[in-house]
Amino acid sequence: MRQSRLFTKTRREAPSDEVAKNAQLLVRAGYIHKEMAGVYDYLPLGLRALNNIIALIREEMNALGGEEVFLSTLQDSEIWKKSGRWDDEAVDIWFKTKLKNGSELGLGNTHEEALTALMKEHIVSYKDLPRYVYQFQNKFRNETRAKSGIMRTREFIMKDLYSFSRDSTEHAAFYEKAAAAYERIFKRAGIGDKTYRTFASGGSFSKYSHEYQAVSAAGEDVIYIDKKRRLAVNKEVYDDPEVYASAGIEKSSLVEAKAIEVGNIFTLGTRFSDALGLSYKDKEGKPTPVFMGSYGIGPGRLMGTIVELMADEKGLVWPESVAPFAYHLVSLGREGDEVSRAADALYSDMRKAGIEVLYDDRDARAGEKFAESDLLGIPKRIVVGKEAAETGVFEVVERATGAVVKTPRAMLTTP
Ligand code: ATP
Ligand code: MG
Repeated sequence: MRQSRLFTKTRREAPSDEVAKNAQLLVRAGYIHKEMAGVYDYLPLGLRALNNIIALIREEMNALGGEEVFLSTLQDSEIWKKSGRWDDEAVDIWFKTKLKNGSELGLGNTHEEALTALMKEHIVSYKDLPRYVYQFQNKFRNETRAKSGIMRTREFIMKDLYSFSRDSTEHAAFYEKAAAAYERIFKRAGIGDKTYRTFASGGSFSKYSHEYQAVSAAGEDVIYIDKKRRLAVNKEVYDDPEVYASAGIEKSSLVEAKAIEVGNIFTLGTRFSDALGLSYKDKEGKPTPVFMGSYGIGPGRLMGTIVELMADEKGLVWPESVAPFAYHLVSLGREGDEVSRAADALYSDMRKAGIEVLYDDRDARAGEKFAESDLLGIPKRIVVGKEAAETGVFEVVERATGAVVKTPRAMLTTP
């Protein structure tokens, strides 16, 4: 992509109404736009990063045997009444609306009810199980606090997967597989070393759920970590002696930290299948409630977390897996001169090789271009100046470390 054609502009100053580092930097870099508190738009560069995160998660969900769907945002209040979650006393973050005839609808804040009801048409016998169904879909939550930029918004995309198993044993095996997939996702997204599987309160069926908590001062949660075992417990279960036996860790060895919940996995048991009547006939023909689990990740929150953990004083720093482009090609030439011709040719050859490159082809001062390049955070910057144009050897600067590697042209144009 040619930067001269990118409509977004960068800003030198952080917007005064943002307190979170992720929002300040993403707005400055033109990745996102704030509509209002807790509501953001994704602009071209931001959307590329978000889509890379989604693609990475999708790969792992498909590897688990997940089948992708896309459920509606508008939700019939009737199914939510069945599970007891329509009441504002039970769920305090509802956005509700009405049809012209007066009947009530909700904007989905999660999809256990809708999917459980839907699966009644597709799960009949034990032969139809297990099933794993997931989506990337917009959730609406009337969050009270919205000060964490894209990490806590009132409209956000969630990857939510739901598992449908015959019994708790079959469920437990999948649950561990899903946990392993989560570990891979956070590792691939560049935050694996900071992210801990964390015991948290579980609800009615299992004593505990597991959160994936990324240690960061920007976090809203408090956890206690065991670095060696790569496990943690959430403050909400810290005083429960049973959790230490379950986790196999010593309370005395834990260190307190603030953390961001980037994902969680949950044993639902028959909470929703009982409420909505989702059962299957076992081998003897006996009706049996389906045993469920749910597994969430917020791609936007994950993107914000990456910013919080990796950005430096100069701006954003993206891991290759998430970056909107692999390379930032910065030409120091002026339109029509030898340097800009060399940069044009390199850009064209890199594109032919299928390499993702953002090309700063604009006439601007070198210092300005470098500062902006630092702000955008693309992993590798190729500088095209006079010497490079003449010799065909280019300086490639790594954004994260500042390391410079002299690289011959041929190496840049081979995938
Ligand atoms: P929190 O306790 O932070 O509000 P939650 O327990 O309500 O999160 P879930 O309902 O389990 O979260 O949602 C699954 C995932 O969706 C979370 O782990 C998080 O990554 C993401 N998520 C939840 N709420 C938001 C939000 N308001 N904005 C962005 N992402 C969110
Ligand atoms: Mg919440």
